[in-house]
Amino acid sequence: MTIDVHRSTPSGWPVDIGSAVPGLPDRAAFMRQLDIAIRMAERQHSTFAVLLIDSGLNAADTGLLDMEHLDQVASAIRSTVRLTDTVAFLSGNEFAVLLSVGNEGGAVRVVGKIVAALEALGLADVAAGISIFGIHSREGEALLRAAESALYQARRARQAVVVAVKAELAPAPSQEELERRIGAAIKEDEFVLHFQPIVKLQSGLPVAVEALARWHHPQLGLLPPAEFLHLAEHDGTLVELSLRLVDSALALLRRWRDRGVPLTMSLNLAIGMLEREGSAQVILGCLHGLSLPPESLTLELRDEGLHALSPTVHKNLFELAAAGVCLSLDDFGRGSASLMVLRDLPVHEIKLDAAFVSQICRSEADAAIVGALIGLGRKLGKAVIAKGIESADVRQKLCELGCEYGQGFHFAQALGADELERWSAKRNGAA
Ligand code: C2E
Ligand code: CA
Repeated sequence: MTIDVHRSTPSGWPVDIGSAVPGLPDRAAFMRQLDIAIRMAERQHSTFAVLLIDSGLNAADTGLLDMEHLDQVASAIRSTVRLTDTVAFLSGNEFAVLLSVGNEGGAVRVVGKIVAALEALGLADVAAGISIFGIHSREGEALLRAAESALYQARRARQAVVVAVKAELAPAPSQEELERRIGAAIKEDEFVLHFQPIVKLQSGLPVAVEALARWHHPQLGLLPPAEFLHLAEHDGTLVELSLRLVDSALALLRRWRDRGVPLTMSLNLAIGMLEREGSAQVILGCLHGLSLPPESLTLELRDEGLHALSPTVHKNLFELAAAGVCLSLDDFGRGSASLMVLRDLPVHEIKLDAAFVSQICRSEADAAIVGALIGLGRKLGKAVIAKGIESADVRQKLCELGCEYGQGFHFAQALGADELERWSAKRNGAA
């Protein structure tokens, strides 16, 4: 059987990438299954594998992903694993499997069969990452992250399958070792940006991306910011790192614009960077050098420290805003100084804290708070973005509450640059 990728069947409807494939668990359900599998494996002293599969089904091949194609991919994966194994659709073209195998060799064999089954459907560029419970971690998020990191390496190396780096073969470097390496890692370009789409909630169409830093550590794979930002801050390299990230994000934005990808770029800015005299001019210089309009850049600021700005930070922020760069208040509602900051700083947008957003369908208090913050933002003429949207119900509720924009795993996780471009083309093509 070959997927007729250009065919548009009567039953084939465009996939809202955020919505689940019927009959398949989504990311949230997969994480719950993963927790159950961990508890069982702990009790039975057994193991299992987490597989992350990039089905290779993308807009470049299809022009349009439709539900029938995803169904065929899901069936092909299901047919190679046991009935008791969990197959889930995460987002974009990524599937995840909880595989009951005794060891890594078994997992690699099954993944080989999955890759062959997908290739038999006519799909090219299938890639998979594997992590094993008890070897790479005993914890759900970390297992998924290890599989993600392996998948990332598989894509980079253009290999079909990569198994995560084994923790016992590569003992985790200590915090001191990581901190010692961070300067060299900046010079060796080991930091990369991934991009999470920010979408219009009604249509699901992307309007912007948030750039999120990752350290592609040679031994440990892809490390999230929580594992290195504090080290860079402590070590005094955070400003250098931030400058590099600004440069690479804007260079990429230029490339996207040249290819007609109509997105703006949101960057998380460490307030420490603005402590430097002239840093606004550095950022404006980068924009100017690439002929990018200042409005194409949004700087996201956490509200810690924003209520008592030093004169230098104040000057830099006002210079950026006066030149047209958008300022955004991140995690709005969590900090204690948000309202003062909202009143006093030239911010264009507020991002509602995921801690409130994620609970709006379960807690009346959270729904009331989110509703009030949306109303406040709108009244003040600010764009309002909800963070941490993990389900269709939360998206629906946010629409009812009048929230215009959002981001979260329901739509897409943070994606590599090329993947983001494909995702965006697919979304816009499906509109
Ligand atoms: P943030 O600004 O709140 O970024 C959103 C974080 O939530 C990201 O984690 C993202 O992957 C995660 N996320 C997105 N959607 C969902 C969802 O639906 N559910 C859940 N549970 N999580 C979701 P990440 O990439 O680990 O970033 C963590 C934080 O690190 C960021 O939080 C930001 O404060 C900081 N950060 C990331 N990149 C940079 C950077 O380049 N510079 C600076 N200064 N800080 C950065
Ligand atoms: Ca942010």
